[in-house]
Amino acid sequence: MNEKKNIAILGSTGSIGTQALDVIRANTDKFSVEVLTGSGNADLLIKQAIEFNPNTVVIADESKYKYVKDALLPHDIKVFAGNASIADVVKMDSIDTVIAAIVGYAGLESTLSAIKAGKQIALANKETLVVAGDLVTKLAKENGVNLYPVDSEHSAIFQCLAGEFHNPVEKIYLTASGGPFRGKTRDFLQNVRKEQALKHPNWEMGAKITIDSASLMNKGLEVIEAKWLFGLETDQIDVIVHPQSIIHSIVQFADGSMKAQMGLPDMKLPIQYAMAYPQRIKSDFPRFNFMNYPQLTFEPADTNTFRNLSLAYEALKKGGNAPCVLNAANEVAVDAFLKDKIGFLQMSDVVEKCLQTATHISKPGYEDYINTDKETRMAAAALILKIEPIKSI
Ligand code: NAD
Ligand code: MG
Repeated sequence: MNEKKNIAILGSTGSIGTQALDVIRANTDKFSVEVLTGSGNADLLIKQAIEFNPNTVVIADESKYKYVKDALLPHDIKVFAGNASIADVVKMDSIDTVIAAIVGYAGLESTLSAIKAGKQIALANKETLVVAGDLVTKLAKENGVNLYPVDSEHSAIFQCLAGEFHNPVEKIYLTASGGPFRGKTRDFLQNVRKEQALKHPNWEMGAKITIDSASLMNKGLEVIEAKWLFGLETDQIDVIVHPQSIIHSIVQFADGSMKAQMGLPDMKLPIQYAMAYPQRIKSDFPRFNFMNYPQLTFEPADTNTFRNLSLAYEALKKGGNAPCVLNAANEVAVDAFLKDKIGFLQMSDVVEKCLQTATHISKPGYEDYINTDKETRMAAAALILKIEPIKSI
Protein backbone atom coordinates (compact mmCIF):
# COMPACT_ATOMS: atom_id res chain seq x y z
CA MET A 1 0.00 0.00 0.00
CA ASN A 2 1.53 3.32 -0.99
CA GLU A 3 -0.97 5.73 0.47
CA LYS A 4 -2.85 5.69 3.73
CA LYS A 5 -6.43 4.46 3.54
CA ASN A 6 -8.97 6.82 5.07
CA ILE A 7 -11.41 4.83 7.15
CA ALA A 8 -14.93 5.50 8.41
CA ILE A 9 -15.99 3.24 11.26
CA LEU A 10 -19.75 2.99 11.70
CA GLY A 11 -20.30 1.61 15.19
CA SER A 12 -16.80 2.45 16.47
CA THR A 13 -17.79 2.03 20.13
CA GLY A 14 -18.81 -1.63 19.71
CA SER A 15 -16.83 -4.86 19.85
CA ILE A 16 -15.88 -4.80 16.15
CA GLY A 17 -15.45 -1.01 16.13
CA THR A 18 -13.00 -0.94 19.03
CA GLN A 19 -11.01 -3.84 17.55
CA ALA A 20 -10.85 -2.02 14.20
CA LEU A 21 -9.38 0.92 16.09
CA ASP A 22 -6.83 -1.46 17.69
CA VAL A 23 -5.77 -2.47 14.17
CA ILE A 24 -5.48 1.18 13.12
CA ARG A 25 -3.55 2.10 16.29
CA ALA A 26 -1.00 -0.59 15.40
CA ASN A 27 -0.80 0.55 11.75
CA THR A 28 -0.94 4.35 11.72
CA ASP A 29 1.32 4.35 8.65
CA LYS A 30 -1.40 2.50 6.69
CA PHE A 31 -4.72 3.82 7.96
CA SER A 32 -6.17 7.06 9.21
CA VAL A 33 -9.58 7.64 10.75
CA GLU A 34 -11.91 9.97 8.89
CA VAL A 35 -15.26 9.26 10.58
CA LEU A 36 -16.36 7.63 13.83
CA THR A 37 -19.96 6.91 14.83
CA GLY A 38 -21.54 5.48 17.95
CA SER A 39 -24.90 5.28 19.59
CA GLY A 40 -25.17 4.87 23.35
CA ASN A 41 -21.66 5.23 24.71
CA ALA A 42 -20.95 8.94 24.19
CA ASP A 43 -17.95 9.01 26.54
CA LEU A 44 -16.15 6.28 24.63
CA LEU A 45 -16.93 7.98 21.31
CA ILE A 46 -15.44 11.25 22.64
CA LYS A 47 -12.35 9.43 23.94
CA GLN A 48 -11.86 7.71 20.55
CA ALA A 49 -12.29 11.01 18.70
CA ILE A 50 -9.69 12.74 20.86
CA GLU A 51 -7.23 9.90 20.27
CA PHE A 52 -7.77 9.40 16.52
CA ASN A 53 -8.70 12.96 15.49
CA PRO A 54 -11.22 12.16 12.74
CA ASN A 55 -12.73 14.80 10.48
CA THR A 56 -16.27 13.97 11.66
CA VAL A 57 -18.08 12.20 14.47
CA VAL A 58 -21.75 11.20 14.52
CA ILE A 59 -23.65 10.25 17.65
CA ALA A 60 -26.73 8.26 16.64
CA ASP A 61 -28.56 9.10 19.87
CA GLU A 62 -29.64 12.70 19.23
CA SER A 63 -30.20 13.43 22.92
CA LYS A 64 -26.41 13.19 23.41
CA TYR A 65 -25.53 15.62 20.60
CA LYS A 66 -24.78 18.65 22.78
CA TYR A 67 -22.70 16.59 25.20
CA VAL A 68 -20.48 15.25 22.40
CA LYS A 69 -20.37 18.57 20.54
CA ASP A 70 -19.23 20.46 23.67
CA ALA A 71 -16.58 17.87 24.49
CA LEU A 72 -15.08 17.99 21.00
CA LEU A 73 -15.33 21.77 20.53
CA PRO A 74 -11.63 22.39 21.34
CA HIS A 75 -10.54 19.64 18.91
CA ASP A 76 -11.80 20.96 15.58
CA ILE A 77 -13.87 17.83 14.90
CA LYS A 78 -17.27 18.14 13.20
CA VAL A 79 -20.11 16.59 15.19
CA PHE A 80 -23.52 15.50 13.88
CA ALA A 81 -26.35 13.44 15.34
CA GLY A 82 -28.88 10.86 14.18
CA ASN A 83 -28.89 7.94 11.78
CA ALA A 84 -29.68 10.14 8.76
CA SER A 85 -26.40 11.98 9.44
CA ILE A 86 -24.49 8.67 9.46
CA ALA A 87 -25.97 7.86 6.05
CA ASP A 88 -24.92 11.32 4.91
CA VAL A 89 -21.33 11.52 6.17
CA VAL A 90 -20.34 8.16 4.64
CA LYS A 91 -20.53 9.87 1.24
CA MET A 92 -17.61 12.21 2.07
CA ASP A 93 -15.05 12.31 -0.77
CA SER A 94 -12.15 11.78 1.63
CA ILE A 95 -13.36 8.31 2.76
CA ASP A 96 -11.85 5.23 1.04
CA THR A 97 -13.26 2.37 3.11
CA VAL A 98 -16.30 2.13 5.36
CA ILE A 99 -16.27 -0.43 8.16
CA ALA A 100 -19.95 -1.29 8.60
CA ALA A 101 -20.03 -2.38 12.26
CA ILE A 102 -23.40 -1.15 13.47
CA VAL A 103 -25.45 -4.02 14.86
CA GLY A 104 -28.74 -5.07 13.26
CA TYR A 105 -31.16 -3.56 10.76
CA ALA A 106 -30.08 -0.11 12.02
CA GLY A 107 -26.95 -0.46 9.87
CA LEU A 108 -28.75 -1.00 6.56
CA GLU A 109 -29.40 2.61 5.53
CA SER A 110 -25.83 3.81 6.09
CA THR A 111 -24.32 0.77 4.36
CA LEU A 112 -26.54 1.29 1.31
CA SER A 113 -25.60 4.96 1.26
CA ALA A 114 -21.86 4.12 1.40
CA ILE A 115 -22.26 1.62 -1.45
CA LYS A 116 -24.09 4.15 -3.59
CA ALA A 117 -21.24 6.60 -2.95
CA GLY A 118 -18.80 3.99 -4.29
CA LYS A 119 -16.99 3.34 -0.99
CA GLN A 120 -15.28 0.01 -0.42
CA ILE A 121 -17.02 -1.82 2.42
CA ALA A 122 -15.56 -3.93 5.20
CA LEU A 123 -18.80 -5.61 6.21
CA ALA A 124 -19.36 -6.78 9.78
CA ASN A 125 -23.07 -5.93 9.84
CA LYS A 126 -24.34 -9.30 8.55
CA GLU A 127 -27.97 -8.29 9.15
CA THR A 128 -27.64 -5.93 6.17
CA LEU A 129 -27.18 -8.91 3.84
CA VAL A 130 -29.80 -10.99 5.62
CA VAL A 131 -32.43 -8.29 5.24
CA ALA A 132 -31.67 -7.08 1.73
CA GLY A 133 -28.94 -9.26 0.22
CA ASP A 134 -30.18 -9.01 -3.35
CA LEU A 135 -30.44 -5.22 -3.23
CA VAL A 136 -27.11 -4.75 -1.45
CA THR A 137 -25.14 -7.03 -3.79
CA LYS A 138 -26.82 -5.58 -6.90
CA LEU A 139 -25.97 -2.02 -5.83
CA ALA A 140 -22.41 -3.05 -4.96
CA LYS A 141 -21.98 -4.48 -8.46
CA GLU A 142 -23.45 -1.41 -10.13
CA ASN A 143 -21.17 0.91 -8.15
CA GLY A 144 -17.98 -1.14 -8.48
CA VAL A 145 -17.91 -1.71 -4.73
CA ASN A 146 -16.31 -4.74 -3.11
CA LEU A 147 -17.88 -6.14 0.04
CA TYR A 148 -14.97 -7.44 2.11
CA PRO A 149 -16.28 -9.82 4.78
CA VAL A 150 -15.33 -9.14 8.39
CA ASP A 151 -17.30 -12.06 9.81
CA SER A 152 -14.60 -14.64 10.61
CA GLU A 153 -16.26 -17.53 8.70
CA HIS A 154 -16.80 -15.44 5.60
CA SER A 155 -13.32 -14.00 5.81
CA ALA A 156 -12.09 -17.60 5.92
CA ILE A 157 -14.06 -18.48 2.78
CA PHE A 158 -12.81 -15.30 1.09
CA GLN A 159 -9.21 -16.16 1.99
CA CYS A 160 -9.65 -19.72 0.65
CA LEU A 161 -11.01 -18.28 -2.61
CA ALA A 162 -8.02 -16.00 -3.17
CA GLY A 163 -6.50 -17.06 -6.49
CA GLU A 164 -9.44 -19.39 -7.21
CA PHE A 165 -11.89 -16.90 -8.64
CA HIS A 166 -12.60 -18.87 -11.83
CA ASN A 167 -12.74 -22.27 -10.17
CA PRO A 168 -16.27 -23.38 -9.31
CA VAL A 169 -17.09 -23.92 -5.65
CA GLU A 170 -18.92 -27.17 -4.97
CA LYS A 171 -19.86 -26.27 -1.44
CA ILE A 172 -18.75 -24.43 1.65
CA TYR A 173 -18.76 -25.48 5.29
CA LEU A 174 -19.34 -22.72 7.81
CA THR A 175 -17.91 -23.74 11.16
CA ALA A 176 -19.84 -23.03 14.37
CA SER A 177 -18.47 -23.21 17.90
CA GLY A 178 -21.85 -24.48 19.14
CA GLY A 179 -21.92 -21.69 21.73
CA PRO A 180 -22.29 -22.03 25.49
CA PHE A 181 -25.21 -24.49 25.22
CA ARG A 182 -23.72 -27.08 22.89
CA GLY A 183 -24.96 -30.53 23.87
CA LYS A 184 -27.76 -29.19 26.07
CA THR A 185 -31.34 -30.45 25.89
CA ARG A 186 -34.54 -28.45 25.39
CA ASP A 187 -35.41 -29.12 29.04
CA PHE A 188 -32.22 -27.42 30.12
CA LEU A 189 -32.66 -24.52 27.70
CA GLN A 190 -36.19 -23.87 28.97
CA ASN A 191 -34.77 -22.22 32.06
CA VAL A 192 -31.51 -20.63 30.95
CA ARG A 193 -31.09 -16.93 31.65
CA LYS A 194 -29.32 -14.16 29.83
CA GLU A 195 -26.32 -14.29 32.18
CA GLN A 196 -25.61 -17.86 31.01
CA ALA A 197 -26.31 -17.10 27.36
CA LEU A 198 -23.98 -14.09 27.41
CA LYS A 199 -20.98 -16.29 28.28
CA HIS A 200 -19.53 -17.37 24.92
CA PRO A 201 -16.74 -19.97 25.18
CA ASN A 202 -14.44 -18.60 22.42
CA TRP A 203 -15.40 -15.06 21.37
CA GLU A 204 -16.09 -11.76 23.13
CA MET A 205 -18.74 -9.89 21.19
CA GLY A 206 -21.67 -7.47 21.52
CA ALA A 207 -24.75 -8.71 23.41
CA LYS A 208 -26.99 -9.30 20.38
CA ILE A 209 -24.55 -11.51 18.45
CA THR A 210 -23.63 -13.35 21.65
CA ILE A 211 -27.27 -14.34 22.19
CA ASP A 212 -27.54 -15.21 18.48
CA SER A 213 -24.49 -17.46 18.88
CA ALA A 214 -26.05 -19.24 21.85
CA SER A 215 -29.29 -19.84 19.92
CA LEU A 216 -27.53 -20.73 16.62
CA MET A 217 -29.40 -17.87 14.93
CA ASN A 218 -25.99 -16.35 14.30
CA LYS A 219 -25.07 -19.35 12.14
CA GLY A 220 -28.42 -19.09 10.38
CA LEU A 221 -27.77 -15.42 9.60
CA GLU A 222 -24.30 -16.40 8.40
CA VAL A 223 -25.70 -19.00 5.99
CA ILE A 224 -27.81 -16.25 4.40
CA GLU A 225 -24.84 -13.84 4.46
CA ALA A 226 -22.70 -16.46 2.67
CA LYS A 227 -25.30 -16.97 -0.05
CA TRP A 228 -25.12 -13.31 -1.01
CA LEU A 229 -21.40 -12.73 -0.53
CA PHE A 230 -20.36 -15.74 -2.60
CA GLY A 231 -23.36 -16.19 -4.93
CA LEU A 232 -24.17 -19.72 -3.72
CA GLU A 233 -27.31 -21.84 -3.75
CA THR A 234 -28.78 -22.85 -0.40
CA ASP A 235 -27.75 -26.52 -0.79
CA GLN A 236 -24.13 -25.47 -1.32
CA ILE A 237 -23.90 -24.09 2.21
CA ASP A 238 -23.42 -26.46 5.11
CA VAL A 239 -22.80 -25.91 8.80
CA ILE A 240 -20.48 -28.02 10.92
CA VAL A 241 -19.94 -27.61 14.65
CA HIS A 242 -16.27 -27.28 15.55
CA PRO A 243 -16.04 -26.38 19.25
CA GLN A 244 -12.38 -25.25 19.25
CA SER A 245 -13.03 -22.42 16.73
CA ILE A 246 -9.64 -22.94 15.07
CA ILE A 247 -10.83 -23.77 11.56
CA HIS A 248 -12.85 -20.72 10.62
CA SER A 249 -14.52 -22.25 7.54
CA ILE A 250 -13.87 -24.50 4.55
CA VAL A 251 -14.34 -24.38 0.78
CA GLN A 252 -14.78 -27.57 -1.25
CA PHE A 253 -13.98 -27.20 -4.94
CA ALA A 254 -15.29 -29.07 -8.01
CA ASP A 255 -12.37 -31.53 -7.88
CA GLY A 256 -13.18 -32.49 -4.27
CA SER A 257 -10.22 -30.59 -2.82
CA MET A 258 -10.97 -28.70 0.37
CA LYS A 259 -9.26 -25.55 1.63
CA ALA A 260 -9.65 -24.36 5.20
CA GLN A 261 -8.45 -21.21 6.89
CA MET A 262 -7.32 -21.56 10.48
CA GLY A 263 -5.86 -19.64 13.38
CA LEU A 264 -6.63 -18.67 16.94
CA PRO A 265 -10.03 -17.01 17.30
CA ASP A 266 -9.27 -13.27 17.16
CA MET A 267 -11.56 -10.90 15.25
CA LYS A 268 -8.70 -8.48 14.66
CA LEU A 269 -7.38 -10.84 11.98
CA PRO A 270 -10.46 -10.79 9.70
CA ILE A 271 -10.98 -7.08 10.42
CA GLN A 272 -7.41 -6.33 9.37
CA TYR A 273 -7.63 -8.57 6.30
CA ALA A 274 -10.80 -6.77 5.16
CA MET A 275 -9.17 -3.38 5.70
CA ALA A 276 -5.84 -4.15 4.03
CA TYR A 277 -6.88 -6.56 1.24
CA PRO A 278 -5.08 -7.72 -0.84
CA GLN A 279 -2.19 -7.14 1.54
CA ARG A 280 -1.46 -9.15 4.65
CA ILE A 281 -0.08 -6.89 7.35
CA LYS A 282 2.45 -8.21 9.82
CA SER A 283 0.82 -8.59 13.22
CA ASP A 284 1.85 -9.55 16.72
CA PHE A 285 -1.36 -11.51 17.40
CA PRO A 286 -0.67 -14.74 19.35
CA ARG A 287 0.15 -17.65 17.02
CA PHE A 288 -1.60 -21.01 16.95
CA ASN A 289 0.35 -23.87 18.51
CA PHE A 290 -0.59 -27.41 17.41
CA MET A 291 0.61 -28.85 20.72
CA ASN A 292 -2.11 -26.90 22.58
CA TYR A 293 -4.76 -28.47 20.34
CA PRO A 294 -3.99 -32.18 19.96
CA GLN A 295 -7.55 -32.67 18.68
CA LEU A 296 -9.77 -30.62 16.45
CA THR A 297 -13.28 -32.07 16.53
CA PHE A 298 -16.40 -31.82 14.37
CA GLU A 299 -20.03 -32.74 14.88
CA PRO A 300 -23.39 -31.97 13.25
CA ALA A 301 -25.49 -29.06 14.45
CA ASP A 302 -28.45 -30.07 16.62
CA THR A 303 -31.23 -28.36 14.71
CA ASN A 304 -33.99 -30.08 16.71
CA THR A 305 -32.86 -28.31 19.86
CA PHE A 306 -31.62 -25.14 18.18
CA ARG A 307 -34.48 -24.49 15.77
CA ASN A 308 -33.23 -21.07 14.69
CA LEU A 309 -30.78 -22.62 12.27
CA SER A 310 -33.57 -24.54 10.48
CA LEU A 311 -35.76 -21.44 10.51
CA ALA A 312 -33.01 -19.46 8.78
CA TYR A 313 -32.63 -22.15 6.09
CA GLU A 314 -36.40 -22.11 5.67
CA ALA A 315 -36.43 -18.32 5.25
CA LEU A 316 -33.59 -18.51 2.75
CA LYS A 317 -35.41 -21.15 0.67
CA LYS A 318 -38.61 -19.10 0.77
CA GLY A 319 -36.65 -16.05 -0.39
CA GLY A 320 -38.12 -12.61 -1.07
CA ASN A 321 -38.80 -10.75 2.17
CA ALA A 322 -38.72 -13.91 4.35
CA PRO A 323 -35.12 -13.38 5.61
CA CYS A 324 -36.09 -9.77 6.45
CA VAL A 325 -38.98 -11.16 8.54
CA LEU A 326 -36.62 -13.65 10.19
CA ASN A 327 -34.19 -10.87 11.09
CA ALA A 328 -36.74 -8.39 12.44
CA ALA A 329 -38.53 -11.04 14.53
CA ASN A 330 -35.19 -12.20 15.89
CA GLU A 331 -34.02 -8.68 16.79
CA VAL A 332 -37.22 -8.10 18.78
CA ALA A 333 -37.03 -11.56 20.38
CA VAL A 334 -33.38 -11.15 21.42
CA ASP A 335 -34.16 -7.75 22.91
CA ALA A 336 -37.07 -9.27 24.87
CA PHE A 337 -34.87 -12.14 26.09
CA LEU A 338 -32.21 -9.65 27.23
CA LYS A 339 -34.94 -7.81 29.16
CA ASP A 340 -36.15 -11.06 30.80
CA LYS A 341 -39.51 -10.79 29.04
CA ILE A 342 -39.31 -14.18 27.31
CA GLY A 343 -37.39 -17.40 27.76
CA PHE A 344 -34.55 -18.72 25.60
CA LEU A 345 -36.63 -21.20 23.58
CA GLN A 346 -39.44 -18.70 23.11
CA MET A 347 -37.17 -16.64 20.87
CA SER A 348 -37.57 -19.35 18.19
CA ASP A 349 -41.34 -19.46 18.79
CA VAL A 350 -41.58 -15.74 18.01
CA VAL A 351 -39.45 -16.04 14.87
CA GLU A 352 -41.36 -19.08 13.63
CA LYS A 353 -44.76 -17.49 14.15
CA CYS A 354 -43.70 -14.29 12.38
CA LEU A 355 -42.39 -16.30 9.41
CA GLN A 356 -45.70 -18.16 9.20
CA THR A 357 -47.92 -15.10 9.36
CA ALA A 358 -46.01 -12.38 7.46
CA THR A 359 -47.22 -11.35 4.02
CA HIS A 360 -44.82 -12.83 1.50
CA ILE A 361 -43.30 -10.55 -1.13
CA SER A 362 -41.29 -12.48 -3.70
CA LYS A 363 -39.47 -9.54 -5.33
CA PRO A 364 -39.18 -6.85 -2.68
CA GLY A 365 -37.71 -3.38 -3.22
CA TYR A 366 -36.18 -1.10 -0.56
CA GLU A 367 -39.58 0.24 0.56
CA ASP A 368 -40.89 -3.32 0.95
CA TYR A 369 -37.97 -4.15 3.23
CA ILE A 370 -38.64 -1.07 5.35
CA ASN A 371 -42.33 -2.01 5.65
CA THR A 372 -41.63 -5.69 6.27
CA ASP A 373 -39.19 -4.78 9.04
CA LYS A 374 -41.69 -2.40 10.64
CA GLU A 375 -44.66 -4.78 10.40
CA THR A 376 -42.69 -7.77 11.67
CA ARG A 377 -41.44 -5.79 14.66
CA MET A 378 -45.05 -4.94 15.55
CA ALA A 379 -46.17 -8.55 15.08
CA ALA A 380 -43.29 -9.87 17.19
CA ALA A 381 -43.94 -7.31 19.94
CA ALA A 382 -47.63 -8.31 20.02
CA LEU A 383 -46.68 -11.99 20.33
CA ILE A 384 -44.27 -11.23 23.15
CA LEU A 385 -46.97 -9.33 25.06
CA LYS A 386 -49.02 -12.53 25.11
CA ILE A 387 -46.16 -14.55 26.57
CA GLU A 388 -46.20 -14.92 30.33
CA PRO A 389 -43.18 -12.97 31.72
CA ILE A 390 -40.51 -15.37 32.97
CA LYS A 391 -40.28 -15.61 36.73
CA SER A 392 -37.16 -14.45 38.51
CA ILE A 393 -35.33 -17.27 40.22
P1 NAD B 1 -21.85 -4.08 19.52
O1 NAD B 1 -23.19 -4.08 20.16
O2 NAD B 1 -20.66 -4.33 20.38
O3 NAD B 1 -21.62 -2.67 18.78
C1 NAD B 1 -22.58 -2.11 17.94
C2 NAD B 1 -22.20 -0.71 17.51
O4 NAD B 1 -23.32 -0.15 16.78
C3 NAD B 1 -21.93 0.26 18.67
O5 NAD B 1 -20.96 1.20 18.27
C4 NAD B 1 -23.28 0.95 18.85
O6 NAD B 1 -23.14 2.24 19.42
C5 NAD B 1 -23.77 1.04 17.42
N1 NAD B 1 -25.23 1.05 17.34
C6 NAD B 1 -26.09 0.22 17.98
N2 NAD B 1 -27.35 0.51 17.67
C7 NAD B 1 -27.30 1.55 16.79
C8 NAD B 1 -28.29 2.31 16.11
N3 NAD B 1 -29.60 2.06 16.27
N4 NAD B 1 -27.87 3.29 15.27
C9 NAD B 1 -26.56 3.54 15.11
N5 NAD B 1 -25.58 2.88 15.74
C10 NAD B 1 -25.94 1.89 16.57
O7 NAD B 1 -21.91 -5.12 18.33
P2 NAD B 1 -20.69 -5.94 17.67
O8 NAD B 1 -20.51 -7.21 18.38
O9 NAD B 1 -19.52 -5.04 17.45
O10 NAD B 1 -21.35 -6.32 16.27
C11 NAD B 1 -21.47 -5.39 15.21
C12 NAD B 1 -21.86 -6.13 13.94
O11 NAD B 1 -20.77 -6.99 13.58
C13 NAD B 1 -23.08 -7.03 14.10
O12 NAD B 1 -23.83 -7.02 12.94
C14 NAD B 1 -22.48 -8.41 14.34
O13 NAD B 1 -23.32 -9.45 13.88
C15 NAD B 1 -21.22 -8.33 13.48
N6 NAD B 1 -20.16 -9.24 13.91
C16 NAD B 1 -19.61 -9.09 15.15
C17 NAD B 1 -18.60 -9.95 15.58
C18 NAD B 1 -17.94 -9.77 16.91
O14 NAD B 1 -16.99 -10.48 17.21
N7 NAD B 1 -18.36 -8.84 17.74
C19 NAD B 1 -18.21 -11.01 14.73
C20 NAD B 1 -18.79 -11.14 13.49
C21 NAD B 1 -19.77 -10.25 13.09
MG1 MG C 1 -19.12 -15.30 12.51
